[in-house]
Amino acid sequence: MNQKMEKDKYLNISRPNKTCLSCGKSLVEIEKHPTILTNEEVARMDFCEECWEKYKDKDYFSFWITKRIVPDSKQSLTKKERNDLLLRLFESLYQDKAMESSYILFYLAHLLMRYKIFNWKGTRSEPKGGEEAPEPKEFLVFENKYTGEEILIPDQELNGEKVSESKSQIDEYLKTHLPEETNQKEKD
Ligand SMILES: [Zn+2]
Repeated sequence: MNQKMEKDKYLNISRPNKTCLSCGKSLVEIEKHPTILTNEEVARMDFCEECWEKYKDKDYFSFWITKRIVPDSKQSLTKKERNDLLLRLFESLYQDKAMESSYILFYLAHLLMRYKIFNWKGTRSEPKGGEEAPEPKEFLVFENKYTGEEILIPDQELNGEKVSESKSQIDEYLKTHLPEETNQKEKD
């Protein structure tokens, strides 16, 4: 999946639908199922495996397999708890500077901006100057509103699959780092 998405569109991809768009079967209990984004706008469509057979030749913009979080392990967090956890996740990934988590950092930074924890500062090319210098890379610059720290994230394009992967990793993190007093009993 290499199709590129217009910037910021990915933040508008909705959460997974509860039911298959074709037959109405519940998808909530299904561990994985196909999802597409249609061409016209960023409209999300989720299908069960059986219905996907009928739809897979349709024209679509992006396709991925949605991995669902088991619903009864979801917990409602306060905004502050959620924001603190998102920031903690961001900081741990940011310190690692791991290339494989670069798109999650990119997604998280936009999410933290939406939640008013990061400020948008603009873009920057680095390194600057010098004929010997490698091709300058574009970075997005954010500022942590609370610490004033400047944050640089390599600019990139996300596709539906990466957005979905970012969301499920974030959900997984939130699920496994619930504040102790509200933590549910482990199921397994
Ligand atoms: Zn179906």
